[in-house]
Amino acid sequence: MRIADLLSKGERFFSLEFFPPKERPAWPEFFAAAERLKSVNPLFVSVTYGAGGGTQSNTLELVARLKKDYGFEPMAHLTCVGASGEFINGFLDNLAKDGIDNVLALRGDPPRGDGAFKPNNKDFSYACDLVRFIRKGFPKLGVGVAAYPETHPEAVSPAEDLLHLKEKLELGSDFAITQLFFDNSYYWDFVKKARAIGIEKPIIPGVLPIVNLAGVKRIVSLCGAKLPPEILARVEEADATGGAKAVEEVGLEIARKQVRALLENGAPGVHLYTLNRAETCLKIIEGCA
Ligand code: FAD
Repeated sequence: MRIADLLSKGERFFSLEFFPPKERPAWPEFFAAAERLKSVNPLFVSVTYGAGGGTQSNTLELVARLKKDYGFEPMAHLTCVGASGEFINGFLDNLAKDGIDNVLALRGDPPRGDGAFKPNNKDFSYACDLVRFIRKGFPKLGVGVAAYPETHPEAVSPAEDLLHLKEKLELGSDFAITQLFFDNSYYWDFVKKARAIGIEKPIIPGVLPIVNLAGVKRIVSLCGAKLPPEILARVEEADATGGAKAVEEVGLEIARKQVRALLENGAPGVHLYTLNRAETCLKIIEGCA
């Protein structure tokens, strides 16, 4: 089913984002985590798409199995990295063959060490090119896109970045999922500005639980989100006094508070960046019930 149709029911929801494990031997653990998360009844689950060939076919295989063996409504991420029309058609044909109805259309980040994004092909320079291509060849497929409450790091300006989001949605994508953020005011300001320029489609907030100090510092440095000083101080203190376990506890508290506030203030639902950790997600979601 298209995620847009699920969203139109207007019920508060959680959706879950997984990444393909690097090695095959880790797959049983991945599926065990997914199975545990069935109990939270996510509206949909999504699987990220890496820059290398192997991880791309893993995305396909994982979404197919999450649908067939576990009964989730999955969405495959897809990027412009290394893209050609033939390749994208092949990927989308495979999705259709496996009965997958949704794709998240992204420009993608370049493979590590490659510096700035270089399109393989001028036809796929931005996510909007991918949305246009998908809409033309696969009109029935549900399409989501990414949005940036704190502005994409390469954007010319916040206003232009927002116009590019508008373009992606006007080309026929159904909804947007945001980059992670830790201060909800960024999300609310962003939604307000989006509505003011005529963006009416759902903007789903993406939330990342903090599970370790070095990890969250690395992630924010890559994606351009800000770690508010009071959150950084709490996590640093937990790390210094109680180590890894204390950081996880504080991270859970922070995520629960953030998710609760988003839902109480009218967010349509929350997209959790699961880090493939069932226990963490269960504790957040159950803590918000
Ligand atoms: P775009 O929308 O193309 O925007 C990229 C930049 O170009 C922005 O600065 C924008 O302002 C600008 N721009 C957009 N359109 C135009 C235009 N027509 N002309 C000029 N400038 C323009 N990455 C992965 O590699 N794999 C994943 O699975 C993945 N999943 C993600 C999931 C979510 C929910 C999010 C938020 C991000 C994800 N990413 C993933 C990261 C994403 O690929 C990067 O943030 C990437 O740098 C931008 O992708 P985009 O689709 O937002 O790009």
